[in-house]
Amino acid sequence: MKTICVAGAGGFIGHHLTKKLKSEGHYVIGVDLKYPEYEESAADQFHVWDLRDYNSAVASTYHVDEVYQLAADMGGIGYITSHLADIARSNVLINANMLEAARVNKVKKYLYSSSACVYAQDKQHFADARPLKESDAYPADPEPGYGWEKLFAEQLTEYYCKDYGLDVRIVRFHNVYGPLGTYDGGKEKSPAAICRKIAQAEDGDTIEVWGDGEQARSFMHDDDCVDGLVRLMDSDFQKPLNLGTDEQVTINELVDIVAGIAGKTIFKRHDLTKPQGVRGRNSDNRLLYAVLGWTPGISLREGLRPTYSWIESQVKAA
Ligand code: NAD
Repeated sequence: MKTICVAGAGGFIGHHLTKKLKSEGHYVIGVDLKYPEYEESAADQFHVWDLRDYNSAVASTYHVDEVYQLAADMGGIGYITSHLADIARSNVLINANMLEAARVNKVKKYLYSSSACVYAQDKQHFADARPLKESDAYPADPEPGYGWEKLFAEQLTEYYCKDYGLDVRIVRFHNVYGPLGTYDGGKEKSPAAICRKIAQAEDGDTIEVWGDGEQARSFMHDDDCVDGLVRLMDSDFQKPLNLGTDEQVTINELVDIVAGIAGKTIFKRHDLTKPQGVRGRNSDNRLLYAVLGWTPGISLREGLRPTYSWIESQVKAA
């Protein structure tokens, strides 16, 4: 049994990861600004602390074997493009504090959760752009605010590895979705937003889609995500690694898949004034497979079924 700190345990991925680590018999210390919104945490201890405060980071990592650092100010494309300064400042403080605290407390392994938003924007101008391999983050041209901070924090994590021998893992998530994720309020991401809009719509209704809907992404179910996280932590790979599927779809296709699951005919009204992010982004999983001998296996249709049913039940209960 290991003692594990999950920073960001009140959030979507951190909550699912806490459940998985508990099911594997570990002692889990969850830390977040807030408790999980939709279900009680499975953590043995849960602290509502602000990791922008260094003392909270030190207390979170005291006598801990492993840290999964998932805490971040983040949200969907609307949120991250309109809160550049707040996101960059908060996240740089969290990551600087957590790394230093892990060093001071002699944490054995430290995993940092980065993002596909670190990838150079000029490699994502087309919906059918080739999948992004880890080296495509350089020369650097990441998304403003959130993406620049993620890229810097990756570097900072590597510096702690080089200078202090901290045993690090660095994961670049590509769009994670699933039940118990934020689905309204402005921080939700596209799969959850589309599930909510379709759950609220009647058969034959029209829903709003941001941009022309031809922007393309790949999406990973949270079960694959937490499986991949634990596999990566158990590996000895210390460089940035993609964690996502390579099943790319356009947002219009995503709407059609969810409408099919809901059994509704849904029409789209495209709002071209809304942000849509890069045109096309997909994960090149060759390095992931070489390192872990594994890649995410849950197809988008398979993973969206429970996601839609959970969001539909929330919408109905509201
Ligand atoms: P989330 O927003 O659900 O969880 C992040 C958690 O961090 C939240 O619960 C939030 O309250 C907490 N947090 C924010 N500021 C904090 C602070 N100062 N102190 C303590 N806790 C704080 O997001 P998520 O989807 O679970 O993402 C987890 C990690 O994965 C984040 O680092 C995110 O940037 C990264 N990521 C997620 C995705 C995705 O598709 N979900 C994609 C790329 C990267």
